[in-house]
Amino acid sequence: MDFTTQMQVPRIVFAEGALARLPDELARLGPGNALLIATPRRNLVVEQVRDALGSRFSGVFPHAAMHVPAETVRAAVNEARRIRADCLVAIGGGSPLGLAKAVAREMDVPIVAIPTTYAGSEMTSIFGITESARKTTGRDPRVLPKVVIYDPLLSVDLPVTTSVSSGFNAMAHAVEGMYAADASPLTSLLAAGAVRALKKGLLQVSSDPHNLAGRADCLYGAALAGIVLGSVSMGLHHQLCHVLGGTYNLLHAELHAVLLPHVLSYNAPAAPAAAESIAGALDCRDAALELHTLAGQLEIPRNLQALGVPPEALHDVAVQVAARPYMNPRLPTENEVLDLLQRAYIGNAPG
Ligand code: NAD
Repeated sequence: MDFTTQMQVPRIVFAEGALARLPDELARLGPGNALLIATPRRNLVVEQVRDALGSRFSGVFPHAAMHVPAETVRAAVNEARRIRADCLVAIGGGSPLGLAKAVAREMDVPIVAIPTTYAGSEMTSIFGITESARKTTGRDPRVLPKVVIYDPLLSVDLPVTTSVSSGFNAMAHAVEGMYAADASPLTSLLAAGAVRALKKGLLQVSSDPHNLAGRADCLYGAALAGIVLGSVSMGLHHQLCHVLGGTYNLLHAELHAVLLPHVLSYNAPAAPAAAESIAGALDCRDAALELHTLAGQLEIPRNLQALGVPPEALHDVAVQVAARPYMNPRLPTENEVLDLLQRAYIGNAPG
């Protein structure tokens, strides 16, 4: 065995009812004035976190939005400075956490993350900010949360459609992590665990959103997949999602379910060991086909047409993606990307 790997993982508190441990975690960390960051309309869950914070609650900024708009970051920084926040508590999905990360870069304050979707951003030092429709992303160790609290009770109200598409976002982190050029036996082990937990959890949650074991499996799978995302380079799938999602302002999570089976089908011949491991974790013979079938079972859209992508967009996306530098088991030509996108546009089974 010969490998080099580096993982930076926050302190993790994972339990049904783990929110009750928030005061102890903050006491361990030291800060006294927490700014709570959330998306609009998450009143119930925000109230629960506010209660758990007790005297450490100093204010709430409930305006987090997708893709972290720069003007929202400026408003949140102003609010954090006004209330003299020395800690940020992000509750919800990748949007509030993305905002907390952007604020933490300006103010150098610790983040406590309480994720209720499966995006996995809480496990990475990756940040992104959108200024004048241009998203800039990067890595900064200061934005990695100091503590992550996973409490399945807080995600039971996440709608099934958001749950399953967000779960496919996590699945994509694990799948791309399996064939990453900088993967290691450790990241592959985490990725396989993520794929297994996500398949099991998503099937349970889609039929019974209040199933706490299913919610726990999904959060656990998302956590493992998030560590993989933070530790290795993502490939073709993430390039496609970035270009398509950014250009057509598509829902980040839904794109994953549509594209992932087709990208895996394209990459599998060049990464047979990874494809075999993914199939093993999914308990099937053909991993790409199984992911397409799973998306159908979970009733997620399986074609780009259903997401509102105009057919004339495919060529432009293929040109952009083929020109980008990134790591992938195979580097596709413009025509190969176009072929893959056309299959995903119609949504037939991959292969
Ligand atoms: P999100 O945070 O916008 O959440 C999706 C929806 O779920 C929102 O409408 C939100 O209000 C709702 N929601 C969240 N928790 C809920 C709950 N408990 N009950 C009911 N509804 C709830 O989106 P997301 O899919 O979690 O994250 C996507 C974003 O995260 C994208 O902008 C993506 O670029 C980013 N991301 C970043 C990283 C990273 O490492 N930096 C990793 C993955 C994703």
